[in-house]
Amino acid sequence: MGDNILALHGGPKVKMTPFGTGKRFGSDEAKELLEALEQNTLFYHFGSKVKQFLQDFNDLYNVKYSVATSSGTAALHVALGAAGISVGDEVITSPITDQGTVVGILYQNAIPIFTDLDPYSYTMSAESIEEKITAKTKAIIVVHLAGNPCDMDPIMKLAKKYNLRVIEDCAQSYLTTYKGQLTGTIGHYGCFSTNDFKHISTGDGGMVTVNSGDETDYFTTHAFADKNYRRQEDTVMKDLEYLAPNYRMTELQGAVGIAQLKKLNWICTRRNELGGRLQQGIATIKGINPMKITGEGWCSYWFYMLTLNLEQLTCTREEFSEALAAEGIPNQPGYIPKVLYAQPIFQKEQAYLNSHYPFNLGSYDYSIGSCPNAENILETAIRLNISEFYTDQDIEDMIIAISKVASYYSK
Ligand SMILES: *Cc1c(COP(=O)(O)O)cnc(C)c1O
Repeated sequence: MGDNILALHGGPKVKMTPFGTGKRFGSDEAKELLEALEQNTLFYHFGSKVKQFLQDFNDLYNVKYSVATSSGTAALHVALGAAGISVGDEVITSPITDQGTVVGILYQNAIPIFTDLDPYSYTMSAESIEEKITAKTKAIIVVHLAGNPCDMDPIMKLAKKYNLRVIEDCAQSYLTTYKGQLTGTIGHYGCFSTNDFKHISTGDGGMVTVNSGDETDYFTTHAFADKNYRRQEDTVMKDLEYLAPNYRMTELQGAVGIAQLKKLNWICTRRNELGGRLQQGIATIKGINPMKITGEGWCSYWFYMLTLNLEQLTCTREEFSEALAAEGIPNQPGYIPKVLYAQPIFQKEQAYLNSHYPFNLGSYDYSIGSCPNAENILETAIRLNISEFYTDQDIEDMIIAISKVASYYSK
């Protein structure tokens, strides 16, 4: 009986041993970095590291072309630029994502349109997207949140019907598959981030896959990340036909990326095992809605997020989170602070200081309550860290602690 007293109330803690940790960077990264410096240039076009990183990435993803960028946010902007998204175009995306998903939309003076999510998988569906399609819709940015793939077949079918470009935000979904196909290779472009919090890190950085395999499409995508300079083997075309930012990756990032990419398979496989075990271990606990993995999907668990069924519990989400933390299980109530459209940038329709452009091109619905499932997810979610360095015991302790807290607060 005594074991069931919450640690929060002075009972024994579930987690008595420290969580597994490990080193992300080692001698492989150091060797690559030293080689980069010895080239006497850190510019991607003169060196070999970014080129090698791209080649390795293309081989891993079995794509013909990709473009390296300075961040995931940049990768998404590059994909939108290459897709020809411009003034007043509407781009449908998820309200639960990193703000990097929408930054490029607004820099193109296009309009982010938010669609509601499945309450348990936290992903966008073709049905929810179709409700938001207008004559102005030009693209969809699907977000494979936490490494869980969106149900892509119906989304691609919808995109074909309405002639929309599909950009996959894969910042959290390295090596995730949908029906055996890698996310990032299903839509027209796949965008990745190598910021320091992702499965692999180059400090900051990103990648765009050009899935058409078309050379012109590749050159346009490449130029959009390089101030519209069109660099080929030994020629550089410098005609500035339209606006393109400088989002180049440096040789230092490329060098670290080469070494990190070699670890990616191990990292994702281990996260899939650990996340899958957690998923299974909490599947039948009263008051807990486990994260629903999309059918025929393989999840690389950038994090694990469950939601609470508060009608079956006597506590608030914050009390649950605190009780779980007291048991020795670090967790966060929710994910981003609020759905993106609740942020002042949308509530004030202010993409640029001192301007309401491009929001004043039309009338857009950013009202609170417009994506009720998404809002409810953020109000009831408990987010748990998953690390490839965690041990099996760490996951078992997480399951025991969640079960202990849920049963204590069970109605
Ligand atoms: C991290 C992230 C981004 C942005 O990537 P940065 O490299 O930080 O710019 C975009 N979308 C999602 C879903 C992310 O998790």
